Amino acid sequence: MVRKVDHIGVAVSNLEESIKFYEEVLGLKCQGTEVVEEQKVKVAFLPIGDTEIELLEATEPDSPIAKFIEKKGQGVQHIAFRVDDIEKALEEMRSLGIKLIDEKPRYGAGGARIAFLHPKSTNGLLVELCERKG
Ligand code: ZN
Repeated sequence: MVRKVDHIGVAVSNLEESIKFYEEVLGLKCQGTEVVEEQKVKVAFLPIGDTEIELLEATEPDSPIAKFIEKKGQGVQHIAFRVDDIEKALEEMRSLGIKLIDEKPRYGAGGARIAFLHPKSTNGLLVELCERKG
């Protein structure tokens, strides 16, 4: 059903500071940043192998990322799994009784179509399904 780990989403308080660690210590390369208005986040992408680290910084105090950090501190916020057909994947999740945060796909960073599953149905992990070209 899922193909690979598309990316790992990490909530951080300061994007610029965090990028330094990944670039200067781990030797990754930031491929750019993007603001996703709808989710009130600024995102940085750092590819590694055939996946990516996605660093997320809140742009507003009521951003889901700000709330996450307030509750749990900085760290892994979600894992995104690549699917070929997100509508079909959501339909399958529904038929399995999985609780969805997004009933319909929406647009995430990089033009991907994404939808989140509710942590109540995934043993606590915020799971993102992600469909993208290429
Ligand atoms: Zn993500």
